[in-house]
Amino acid sequence: MLATLPGRMMDYPLTLTHLVERAARFFPKSEVVSRQANRALNRVSYAELMKRVRKLANALVAMGVKPGDRVATLAWNHHRHLELYLAVPAIGAVIHTLNLRLHPTEIAYIARHAEDKWVFADATLLPLLDKFRHEVPWIRKVVVMRDEGDPAVPPEDAEYEALLEPCSDAFEFPRLDENAASMICYTSGTTGNPKGVVYSHRSMVMHTIVACMADSLAVGERDVVLPVVPMFHAAAWGLPYAAVMAGSNLVFPGPHLDAKSILELMQDEKVTIAAGVPTIWLGILAMLDAEQGKWNLGHVRTTVIGGAAAPPSMIQGFAERHGVVITHAWGMTETNPLGTLARVKSSLAGDPAQELRIRSTQGYAVPFVEQRHADEAGKILPWDGETMGELEVRGPFVAKAYFSDEGSDRFTADGWFKTGDVVTIDAEGYVRITDRSKDVIKSGGEWISSVQLENALMSHPAVLESAVFAGRHEKWDERPIAAIVLKPGQSASEEELRTHLEGHFAKFWMPDAFVFVQQIPRTSTGKFLKSKLRASFGEMLIGK
Ligand code: ADP
Repeated sequence: MLATLPGRMMDYPLTLTHLVERAARFFPKSEVVSRQANRALNRVSYAELMKRVRKLANALVAMGVKPGDRVATLAWNHHRHLELYLAVPAIGAVIHTLNLRLHPTEIAYIARHAEDKWVFADATLLPLLDKFRHEVPWIRKVVVMRDEGDPAVPPEDAEYEALLEPCSDAFEFPRLDENAASMICYTSGTTGNPKGVVYSHRSMVMHTIVACMADSLAVGERDVVLPVVPMFHAAAWGLPYAAVMAGSNLVFPGPHLDAKSILELMQDEKVTIAAGVPTIWLGILAMLDAEQGKWNLGHVRTTVIGGAAAPPSMIQGFAERHGVVITHAWGMTETNPLGTLARVKSSLAGDPAQELRIRSTQGYAVPFVEQRHADEAGKILPWDGETMGELEVRGPFVAKAYFSDEGSDRFTADGWFKTGDVVTIDAEGYVRITDRSKDVIKSGGEWISSVQLENALMSHPAVLESAVFAGRHEKWDERPIAAIVLKPGQSASEEELRTHLEGHFAKFWMPDAFVFVQQIPRTSTGKFLKSKLRASFGEMLIGK
């Protein structure tokens, strides 16, 4: 009888361990390049790195790390962080990537919540670690990752290289259950306490396969992959695992995320795929524009931009002025994180204006992710490109619950995750984000899309960045206010910006006020922090 066949157990489990074995066997010559805090470049081959992963696995076991234990990292993107990405899950433990941009009290909360017992920290981040390590009673040992010129290792802590040195580079990886946890990441907690999202091995492997697919990020053996997106945030969008599975070269920027350092790496290391949030690429585009002809980005196949809306003017600027194709992607910590991706279907290709419009959407769901949108009562909405509702997703790498079962109201009874993003979906399936529900501007009961206004403002040649947010209003409840950062040496008056918007939007969408600022405040993951703008300027329309 079918029911008695042990079908599940007959399948070979999908686990990350395979990546280590595969990379060592097939891609020993592939290389991982990391920029250290002292700016020197560290180079290590996959052959050597996978030996180090086995040494690290031995070291972890010797330290007493058991399956299911949480091992935290407090680190920038570099080869040692990759070694931890591979060794910790491969022994059955769970890597917990701490977001070093959060406030120390928040990091302490997260580390306590996850019950982190070991912390692997960059020496340059020791001052940050010192601010919270004593608030986390679970921590048994800190291991410091240090390069020349970095702060010294405190006597009570271990040093990473010294830990690895005596260990054998032979390690028999255990056969793991594919449903076992491999990594835990926390959401940024803009709405309440941060919540933990646990990724199983199966979820990670499925995500890695999907990331490598041709119509997805298409990571391949010939690629040189530069994840500017931090490894402490949503697993650097899965790129480290995708690159290792494919055998690509990897380039890590360490703590140096300024435009010049990134451009140098892209040019010198012949990067083919780079990825990060729009704020990083706005800075890079401004530098490319200012230094026309200086940079050779001829090897770049695509730059993946996500985490916040990529303005069409940026997508167009990269393509037309610098020959760089942007892949716009949407995702969340809860979706591991790839959810949708803006590929132009062949049936829609040909007309440049239409192609730009499509590339500027958040795209349609990657394989195995399902998408729909619903109104506040939970009614499923039509895909007409106009009706706005909350995006819901489900699939094998979408969270089904948060760690410790918090936030259960974000999951529907039939297993969909409510994203909190307000979207339209068109007949072809392309999702367009109009806002995050917490950033929505509701004027006299009507929704105004801050994202569309920002995109239009950022297409003005003098505007570097713009964030549109809700100001409180006595009559209309809320009205849009636009915060503007001008490009260095450029000017634009409020009148000019109004004229620039006119004709493109309904009259009631026009911002009631413009504020010119030096910089838009950022979240811990480099996105515009609108709650701070609301706190600073949100009352300015009252009494007007
Ligand atoms: P947080 O932003 O809270 O630090 P996440 O990285 O999980 O944590 O953020 C996910 C959110 O980022 C999404 O819900 C969405 O609002 C926003 N986002 C991600 N990608 C895009 C995109 N391409 N366009 C617009 N918004 C995006």
